[in-house]
Amino acid sequence: MLKQSTLAAATALYAATIPAGDYWLHEVKKGQTLRIVDVAGNQAADTLFYNADDPHERYCATSTIRTQGNVYLGLGSRLLSQDGTPMLTIVADTVGRHDTLGGACATESNTVRYALEKKTMHACRDSYVLALAEHDHWGLTKRDIGHNINFFMNVPITADGGLSFADGVSGPGQYVEMVAHMNVVVLISNCPQLNNPCNAYDPTPIDVLIWEAA
Ligand SMILES: [Zn+2]
Repeated sequence: MLKQSTLAAATALYAATIPAGDYWLHEVKKGQTLRIVDVAGNQAADTLFYNADDPHERYCATSTIRTQGNVYLGLGSRLLSQDGTPMLTIVADTVGRHDTLGGACATESNTVRYALEKKTMHACRDSYVLALAEHDHWGLTKRDIGHNINFFMNVPITADGGLSFADGVSGPGQYVEMVAHMNVVVLISNCPQLNNPCNAYDPTPIDVLIWEAA
């Protein structure tokens, strides 16, 4: 189901562009609204959420999937922590489907999926490790890099339960918006992947905007 936001970009208290292949690490306060925009279309925003007041608590795909009874994320999806606590709820979505099964790309998985010589190509996991190393006041390390959401990414489940990485269902200017139910640390890797259609083989920028609590 699709739903447009009622929030105007001009009223946002924060706005930034994440260049293709870069990361964004930022705290979103309880009650604030976060919008992630697929600026040019067919980009993947690999996203992790942590409780800012207790980073041991973080987004959990299994809790979220089990509770909502669906493997796709979209309007109304509550993003739950491993304790089953709602961290954020998706309140507007112009895409209709986001992935929480495919995980983030890594240099290791690139060699398995594509070819050995892909080992040195930039991958989301590198961006995550760099982000946590450059912001060590959170006390998070690479051991804390868990299972992520891929906003704008289309990973349809086949009839026999397989995962398929398909061309994106997103497009230029499409977005997803969520309200935070706790203070959350948001870590986005704007995927640099060049080997699969998650970003149409052409990484492009992602915009992020934050609005104060209504
Ligand atoms: Zn990636």
